[in-house]
Amino acid sequence: MRGVVALLSVLAASCSSGDPKPREPARRPLRTTDAVSSPAKAPGLRLPAGVTPLAYDVRLELDPDRETFAGRVAIRVKLDAPARQIWLHGDELEIDKARYRAGTRSGAATVSRATEHEMHAIGLGDAVPAGEVVLELEYTGHVGDDLEGLFRQKFGGKWFLYSQAEATYARRIVPCFDEPRFKVPWRVTLVVPDGQVALANAPVASERVVDKRREVTFAEMPNLPSHLFAVAVGPFALVDVGKVGKQGVPVRVVVAPKDTKRVGAAGAWVPKLVDTLEQYFDQPMPLAKLDLVAVPRFFGAMENPGLITFEVTSLVGDDKDPSFLRRHIRFLAHELAHQWVGNAVTPAWWNDLWLAEAFATWLDDKLSNALGTLDDPALRTQLARAHALAADRELTAKPLRREIASNDDIEDAFDAISYEKGAAVIAMFEQFVGEEKFRDIVRAYIKRPGTATAQTFVAAFDRIDAPLAKAFAGYLDRAGVPIVDMELDCSSSPRLVASPRDHAAVPVCVRHPAGKSCVLASGPTTIALASCPAWLVGNADGRGYYHVQWSAPASDRKKAKQSPIVPTAVSQLAPAERLAHGEDRAAAIARGELTKRDALVEIDALLAARDPYAELAAIAMAVEVNRTVDEAGVASWGHELGKRFAKRLSRAATWQPRTALDFAMRDALADLVPPDRFANDTAHAARALVDRALRDGPTTIRSSELVLAIALAAPAGGKALFERIVTAAAKNTAFVDEWFEGLAYFDASFAPRAVELVLDKRFEPDRAWPIVGGMLGRTPTRDAAWRAVQARLGELLATLGAKDAAAMIEATAGLCGAHQRKQVETAFSPRVSTIVNGKRALDQALASIDRCITSSGAPTSSPAP
Ligand SMILES: [Zn+2]
Repeated sequence: MRGVVALLSVLAASCSSGDPKPREPARRPLRTTDAVSSPAKAPGLRLPAGVTPLAYDVRLELDPDRETFAGRVAIRVKLDAPARQIWLHGDELEIDKARYRAGTRSGAATVSRATEHEMHAIGLGDAVPAGEVVLELEYTGHVGDDLEGLFRQKFGGKWFLYSQAEATYARRIVPCFDEPRFKVPWRVTLVVPDGQVALANAPVASERVVDKRREVTFAEMPNLPSHLFAVAVGPFALVDVGKVGKQGVPVRVVVAPKDTKRVGAAGAWVPKLVDTLEQYFDQPMPLAKLDLVAVPRFFGAMENPGLITFEVTSLVGDDKDPSFLRRHIRFLAHELAHQWVGNAVTPAWWNDLWLAEAFATWLDDKLSNALGTLDDPALRTQLARAHALAADRELTAKPLRREIASNDDIEDAFDAISYEKGAAVIAMFEQFVGEEKFRDIVRAYIKRPGTATAQTFVAAFDRIDAPLAKAFAGYLDRAGVPIVDMELDCSSSPRLVASPRDHAAVPVCVRHPAGKSCVLASGPTTIALASCPAWLVGNADGRGYYHVQWSAPASDRKKAKQSPIVPTAVSQLAPAERLAHGEDRAAAIARGELTKRDALVEIDALLAARDPYAELAAIAMAVEVNRTVDEAGVASWGHELGKRFAKRLSRAATWQPRTALDFAMRDALADLVPPDRFANDTAHAARALVDRALRDGPTTIRSSELVLAIALAAPAGGKALFERIVTAAAKNTAFVDEWFEGLAYFDASFAPRAVELVLDKRFEPDRAWPIVGGMLGRTPTRDAAWRAVQARLGELLATLGAKDAAAMIEATAGLCGAHQRKQVETAFSPRVSTIVNGKRALDQALASIDRCITSSGAPTSSPAP
């Protein structure tokens, strides 16, 4: 699911969209039953072994107009051994009645208070023998406004109710064994006000009216893990878009009545995508029906079998608008691919989430490319890859197959590693093995529905190519981007030696005038060349998930120094290779293997090529240098940036960017170039937009554009503009996030005022914090913002409170320098135990500062020559 959000932060490429932010884990206080005291030995994160759910029969009374609901569930359970109690998940549910039946025995059961891991013990009195037990629970629960469990949203004056069970929110809807390894049949009955549409994963089996309410019973849904359970209730309009695939699965688009005319794109594309996927997997889509449900405000989309939920703007739109279509097709492809990868074959535990998300991401990319629906596929693929590389270069980066020690770890797994890195690694191995062979591996892997682990896929791979399968497994367990040192030796018999560091096994493909040469390198590995090549690309097509580090042979070192792009000129690189090259050099800066001075020489060589992909490569390098600039160097570095990029930003900052390239260029530069270096006409046009938004309301401009406009207008606008925006934010709270995000672009002198706004009672502190957080994230304002935070640290911590103070710690990750590291440690380490996620935030921030200290290695404060 959330990977689509991640992806779109790249695709939509708006100024306001940054990294995919995993949703904050819920921290509401638990409501517990007036239950018996907790049994002595509560399980940890995982349910105890020896108890297996066999089937659920759930009945929910749902009314979108109400904030509570009533539920009843019967769960058939198998006990491997006699038991006095059964543990299951439940969160924020009031379980009022509990009974059990075991053979001829039955009786009332007790329900313990929920544990910290959201489990209740159902007490059975005397031990019940091994075999089958049926638990019957009656309870009430809550319908929230966040996207966790059941939630409702108002649209056109009417309430609609939706659900989101992934990752750990099914337990807020039904007491259940909420782990993905349990794939069992679910029977669902919904009781809803008459006149409302009721939907679940399976088709309707029967319905009747009882007391002005409709009772809708759905067909049994086989093999459903709890996190894919879904329902929707409301005054929806259902638009039939026909039957799709080999088994003629009926598809409907489920929207608010006013949107029924705007669903043409789904009607056109769902059949094509399903056909393509069925062909690829050589399997029909495993569903009895499919509803595509539009949710007004959502994080992206969610692949629940039979009931996929989408943020409305990705499902409903103008089918002549290319940017809507690109987004729409990508979302559809991702969620439809999940019907096989993730739903039919489900990762048995969250440590292998990549099995669902990396495959769906790789397939949505592959399908969009195959169907020709992407503009500039090279750029889009490389931007996604760059996103993965940036996350993977962090010292705290997790491997694809990761350890899960808490519910927070589960939420965190929905990140650029599970999605974009996973997709990039799969694409690399596909290229290496060949598309057809790789398709056979995937088909073997998904042949049997059920649960899977990484080993299931590696075993399918192993049967086709054992050494490569081993290399693939190596990528799963190792965090970080492999670095391959390359040396071209033309002294006698021409050859290239590729040496992965740390003994990693890396599929290396290089390109030269005679074609492509690929080798699985694990120590120093020689690629023989027919003649000394005129040019050589170390990562052919930018498809390899590794960084190239060239070193010239000793005889050639002096010459190499003059030509920083060893040994190939920019002009020989394909667009994707130019972008990959920029990432390689940015990584070299981060490792401290390329000095700032030399980096500037290379940046200028890239800019001299007068090619947009080379310019983006130069920008990637500049961003890495930018991180390490300290306060004394800010002015001269700003001058260097302005000299090189301000004109380019003026060109890119049109208000209607058309291409992916325009978007990427504009957003990268708006974040990098200090606003006081922008050309006057850019600032002037931006100011006109901001003034209009202040006068007529912010709806006159797209929210992401508003942030950019404020950023560009900030230097000339000064204090007067800052305060006008603050007043607007206090009045127009619907757009407070955009106003505040824009304020973060004002110069360093505004830092103390930004801190005051977090403490200002007119604003919710966690929503005002991004002004300061944004200032801490940008080089020109970073140090001033940190001083302003330190000056009022106690007040800020108290105001943000235990729940939101981790955002403060996280924001210090952009600081750079031993002195500041010490300050951060001193400020926060005594307090982390009282802050939700505080310890983890501090560890990550310190690791990030450490990385910056490493890359800033050179003693000069200014990178300018
Ligand atoms: Zn997904």
